[in-house]
Formats: sequence, structure tokens, C-alpha cells
Amino acid sequence: MIKLENIHKYYDSQHVLKGINLEVSKGEIVSILGPSGSGKSTLLRCINFLEQPTSGIVEIGGKRVDVESASKADVFALRTSTGMVFQQYNLFKNLTVLDNVMIGLTSVKQLKKDEAKKKSLDILERVGLTNRLNHYPAQLSGGQQQRVGIARALALNPEVLLFDEPTSSLDPELVDEVLATIRSVAATGKTMFIVTHELQFAREISDRVIFMEDGVIVEEGTPEQLFTQPKAERTKQFLSKAS
Ligand code: ADP
Ligand code: MG
Repeated sequence: MIKLENIHKYYDSQHVLKGINLEVSKGEIVSILGPSGSGKSTLLRCINFLEQPTSGIVEIGGKRVDVESASKADVFALRTSTGMVFQQYNLFKNLTVLDNVMIGLTSVKQLKKDEAKKKSLDILERVGLTNRLNHYPAQLSGGQQQRVGIARALALNPEVLLFDEPTSSLDPELVDEVLATIRSVAATGKTMFIVTHELQFAREISDRVIFMEDGVIVEEGTPEQLFTQPKAERTKQFLSKAS
């Protein structure tokens, strides 16, 4: 359902992704661990074409695109089949909570306003923000802002949700409410990629855990395999330092 074949990404002469191969089935939850600078964010950004991969093939929901000959329509299709949740929330500061969620539905999906509103209200209820509809991002806690970010991504009903360190900007006491929201989305069977430093969370929520370093997938396995019997020396080192 999602397939990456030999994805490479260069920033000028810097080789950041060095042949990533990955096949993920519908509903699978994949956590990506690895040290800072290993290419985790770049990988997520290449999956939804926020960054154009330099070479390789991206396949999502049956749509197969060779990135070197991708048309604008291909890129649009891949972008709209993915939803991204960012570390820094990336909300529109001049829009209310409701409008932040509605805008993708009225612009990208071209829904009528009343339909977009109904859908947005449903989703904001799921993330527990019904009492903040007319607030602006600056009037919310970080945890609430990130839940708006999740609602906004969910509203477009993407094939896959991509989370890039969704709790890394939060004060420790706000992490749990966001993890709980991510868990509740996971329970709906959504396919998800989660870059995170919350190892306990990754272990408990994931079907598969990937350890990346220096632009390659060093090792992958079930949480059980990776956390209790890591094969690669680098994975062992990372897990022992991180825990
Ligand atoms: P991670 O998310 O694992 O910390 P990143 O994917 O952000 O790693 O970065 C991988 C490497 O690519 C780093 O060396 C980083 O400096 C570089 N990099 C990331 N984004 C850009 C960019 N937009 N332009 C140039 N270099 C970048
Ligand atoms: Mg990153």
C-alpha cells in the first residue's frame, strides 16, 4: 500500500538519503528512530513531496511514481494522499482553530463551506477541542495546538499520516495528551509513520520500528525484536544512550 524503492535525496552535494527501501501495508504503524541528522525528517518530507526525492519510486495507494519523471498531477496526488503533523505545529496563526481545520477541505478538497464545517466539527470533537473552535493558535497551549495540527491532517482523510516528532516541542506535562490523541487515531486503523524520541510510546504503539542512521535503514523489526534483541551495534548503542 506504501512502497518506497531505492529513494535517494541529495541537498546539493550532501547525500542525505542513500537508497531507502520500505514496504508498508494498510493500517500499519511504523516508528522511525535514529540520531539527529540521520535523515528521518527528510524521509517523511520525501514521502509527501514537501521535498522532491532525487531518485527512486514512491507508491502510495496504487499510485506509482518515478520521482525523476513525476508530473505536477503525480505530485499533487501523492501530496493529497498524505497528511503531515509537524514538530512546530505549522498552524495558520491568523486563523481560528475551526478555520485551520476547514481550510484544507475548502481549498484542497474543494468542499462547500457548510460541508467542510460539519466535517471539521466532527474531527475537532475527536481530538477534544470543541470548546476552542474560535480561539487562535496563540491562545492555545502547545498540546492543544498540536491536536489542531492532528485534526487538520486527519480532515483530509489521507491514506497515510506522517508525524515528525509531534511531541518534541511540548513541555513534558503536555506530551501525554498528544500521545493519547495519536493513540486514538492509531486505533482507527490509519496507516502511520511516526518519527519520535518517545521510545516507550514507539514500543507500545508500533507494528514495526525502524532505526535509521546516516541516510540508511540500519535495522527494522517488531518493537519486541528491536528493543529487546537489536542486531546492529549502532542500534544497541542508540537504545542504551536514549533510555
Ligand atoms: P533528522 O530529522 O534525522 O534529524 P534531517 O532529515 O532533518 O535529519 O537532516 C538530515 C541531513 O540533511 C542533515 O545533515 C541536515 O543538515 C540536512 N538537511 C535537512 N534539510 C535540509 C535542507 N532543506 N537543505 C539542506 N540540507 C538539509
Ligand atoms: Mg528531524
